[in-house]
Amino acid sequence: MRQLILQKKLIKKRPKKSLGQNFLIDKNILKRIVEINIFNSESEIIEIGPGTGNLTDYLIKKKPKKIFIIEKDKDLLKNLVEKFSGKAEIINKDILKFFEYQIFNKNTIVVGNLPYNISSQILVKFILDNNFRFRALMFMFQKEMANRILAKVNSKDYGRLSILSNWKFRVKKLFDIKAGSFNPRPKVESSILLFIEKTEKFPIRDSKNLEKITRILFNQRRKKIRKSINYIFKNNKKIINNLNLNLDLRPQNLDVETYCNIASKYEELKTN
Ligand code: SAH
Repeated sequence: MRQLILQKKLIKKRPKKSLGQNFLIDKNILKRIVEINIFNSESEIIEIGPGTGNLTDYLIKKKPKKIFIIEKDKDLLKNLVEKFSGKAEIINKDILKFFEYQIFNKNTIVVGNLPYNISSQILVKFILDNNFRFRALMFMFQKEMANRILAKVNSKDYGRLSILSNWKFRVKKLFDIKAGSFNPRPKVESSILLFIEKTEKFPIRDSKNLEKITRILFNQRRKKIRKSINYIFKNNKKIINNLNLNLDLRPQNLDVETYCNIASKYEELKTN
């Protein structure tokens, strides 16, 4: 009987695949992450998905001015409260439904070993929603996703995530992390990326329009852009000519600036 109860307890505590729970257990990696010279005594940290608090422990050692941790899983809360009450502000919410902009400011560094199944959604949220203020984002992704974010025009990984990220941020890979540094061990390696907002971004009135343009074009990833461009601009030849595009190219052959040009023309058209 006792054994059964014990077993049940264990089952309940088992990491949840559905929430992308792969806890970082490698102390050398945890140390390396917080040694990145972006943290200082002015820093306010917001950690997404603290899990069992492994990274949180190290972040607190950097003595930030403030630290908020946002964890969706209720089952992990008790442990987080025991470990960090008085040291961190613990928020039990879903980051995708989180809009408390007031805890973000220009000294905020958003950190997270992101749940892999929603990591791109989380990144896109911080790209498109201008109400979030921060100094930098430091996120861990599966390596394949990181490569897509970093990809350059004309490469096979180049796509919506590369365009949106590179429109808004200077993106830098800090280092790769082996699968064995996590528990449970994921199937693939991870990479940690640092995002710092560009001071001079290509001006787009509403970044959601850039998102829309990339979505329409990359829906036809292998096709020439002619059809999608005609669709976006409702066959308006004058505007299309004005853009000076080679319509025989494919979505992967247009650089970030060209996407921005298309988005800003689209905005012009919408307001006229
Ligand atoms: N930072 C920890 C855990 C990373 S695993 C470590 O490195 O060890 C990802 C964490 O994100 C898990 O704790 C998971 O419960 C949490 N999570 C998953 N979806 C979330 C969401 N929508 N909002 C907030 N946290 C989420």
